[in-house]
Amino acid sequence: MTQHRSVCALDCPDACSLLLTVEDGRVTRLEGNPEHPVTKGFACVKTYQYPKRQHHPDRLLYPMRRVSKKGEGKFERTSWEEALSVIAEKTKAIVDAFGGEAILPYSYAGTMGLIERDYPYTFFRALGASELTFGTICASTGGAGWEAVYGPQKLATPPEDIKHANLILLWGINSLRSNSHLTPFLKEARKNGAYIIHIDPYRNETSQFADEHWQIKPCTDAALALAMGKVILDAGLEDSEYLKAYASGFEEYKQACQEWTLERAAAYCGLDAERIREVSLKFAKETSFIRIGYGMSRNEGGGNATKAIVLLPALTGAWQQKGGGAMLSTSGAFPLNFGRYSGLDLKKQVRRINMNQLASALELKENPVKALFVFNSNPAAVAPDSSRIRQGLKRDDLFTVVLEHFQTDTADYADYLLPATTFLEHPDLYTAYGHYFLQWAEPVVSPAGECKANSWVFQQLAKRLKLKNNVFDWSAEDIAKDLLNSDHPFMQGISFESLKKDGFVKLNLPEAFRPYSKGSNFDDRKIRFAPAPRQLEFKEEPNTEYPLRLISPPGSHIINTSMGNIDSLLKAAGGEPQVIIHPNDAAKYGIKDGERHTISSQQGSILRKIWVSDATKEGTATALGQWWPKLSPDGKSLNDLTSERLTDLGEGSTFGNIVVRVS
Ligand code: SF4
Repeated sequence: MTQHRSVCALDCPDACSLLLTVEDGRVTRLEGNPEHPVTKGFACVKTYQYPKRQHHPDRLLYPMRRVSKKGEGKFERTSWEEALSVIAEKTKAIVDAFGGEAILPYSYAGTMGLIERDYPYTFFRALGASELTFGTICASTGGAGWEAVYGPQKLATPPEDIKHANLILLWGINSLRSNSHLTPFLKEARKNGAYIIHIDPYRNETSQFADEHWQIKPCTDAALALAMGKVILDAGLEDSEYLKAYASGFEEYKQACQEWTLERAAAYCGLDAERIREVSLKFAKETSFIRIGYGMSRNEGGGNATKAIVLLPALTGAWQQKGGGAMLSTSGAFPLNFGRYSGLDLKKQVRRINMNQLASALELKENPVKALFVFNSNPAAVAPDSSRIRQGLKRDDLFTVVLEHFQTDTADYADYLLPATTFLEHPDLYTAYGHYFLQWAEPVVSPAGECKANSWVFQQLAKRLKLKNNVFDWSAEDIAKDLLNSDHPFMQGISFESLKKDGFVKLNLPEAFRPYSKGSNFDDRKIRFAPAPRQLEFKEEPNTEYPLRLISPPGSHIINTSMGNIDSLLKAAGGEPQVIIHPNDAAKYGIKDGERHTISSQQGSILRKIWVSDATKEGTATALGQWWPKLSPDGKSLNDLTSERLTDLGEGSTFGNIVVRVS
């Protein structure tokens, strides 16, 4: 029996340091590393089940070639040699006939390890393939909102400092599930007297943990934040000195706030006016911290809403206080040498395709996509308007390669299905977006069957296609060393050798790290209050035909599709996907708890079990977690309901925008 250190590779801000027990080549136990200052010795309900996923009988073990119609998912085993030769030949033929842009890589955060997530792009950039806009399906709007205010490179209050905050707003995030390692810091803050408010249309475990829950109407967050700004301004509680030094466009912001009287905002958001007033005043007077989630940014006005919220700590000067400020992401703090290993240095101007519009991309008549490489993602389940995506994947003239751990819904359409290693089977380097630790993980067990790392697959293809770039000869350690080769002060004293020995290291941040206490990351240090955020009118609003707004926060056990086939988690999540409807809506539409009903939007219809509960706001349907379509009662994805419409900033997805009817 041996014990090994690793890093959780799931798409989660916590990037936990893990301890794995291995017996006879099998992982038998997974724990959080007690020595890691943020992990603090615990993992989470999903990842405790990872050993089951690692040794799951359905793991893909060999390269496979399709022998049925696309979508039917029948394959036969082949060799790596045959698979790589055919893929290389097809790729070359497509590039020669249609140009590099006919190739589309589609990937996201199936692993957060930098090497296995981003290194394959060197291959695609060397080919001149089409690129994905922003490379994120769900975070670009929140990021764009933040960066419109504070400039490039997102920073945040260090989680270790939150214990010094007196008022904490958990805004649009089920942090106990989606950022569970913030909880010990929240508890410490509470022990020191902090008051915690959860702002979310869906009452969940974070609401129960908080001292107070504001069940806000979805998509009204900008109105609430602007009304809070008005209360603070009317009381003269803004930090004039800080604003004089670091604000630009402040007059425009003041005017935008004036439109949102307490009464108007309370009625619009479905909240109590007097409570908004009291909390706004407390927010300005005390050390206040906001943990803002990405969920509330996935709608037509999400960029404006993010801006309105993240301007509040600038208005009150909270960034100057230890524990004050906000957190969306810490990702901008990692000053790594991202150019070479991902091929970004090649700087080719190519066609960009928004990954939220894959359905349309697969229908392009001009410059059509002829080859699709999917890795670290499952677009047939997770991308908007997924029934149209599944239609596109059926195209006979589309060559599809999928690198996967399991035969997902997307994999059913592959021409070649290649077995990928898990994060326990390959080395990788990890940043984080909920703390400031860099981490390195060695493999813990040997690859199952003939599984190979993504990096190996694309190096092999690069060789067969005779692509010239030294990077294709690099080992994982070479790539990591190049990534860490930065003279930024945050990287001082950090070497690959020390990281390899210790497993994790905190960035060399200044002793008292208070981001934005001396203004923004823009060259002029000014925080942009203009263009002032607005509560936008949405094109898609509840109406007589589609009266309910559908949101899809993480469930308690099923969050995204990565762990979506683990029986124990599916069972704990209720055995099938569920949608919560408020009792008043249930009465109005004649729906009983536990029945299955058709949920329809303009894009399509799905069948789901209904849970009648006031855990959801009246007028809101709350779908819990993203289930595999093939494990859902009707074989359909929740994203059969969503559309390719984009947000106001960052061209992000509008997953939280959809209006539906239940019938
Ligand atoms: S909390 Fe997040 S990082 Fe930690 S084990 Fe769970 S999914 Fe992984």
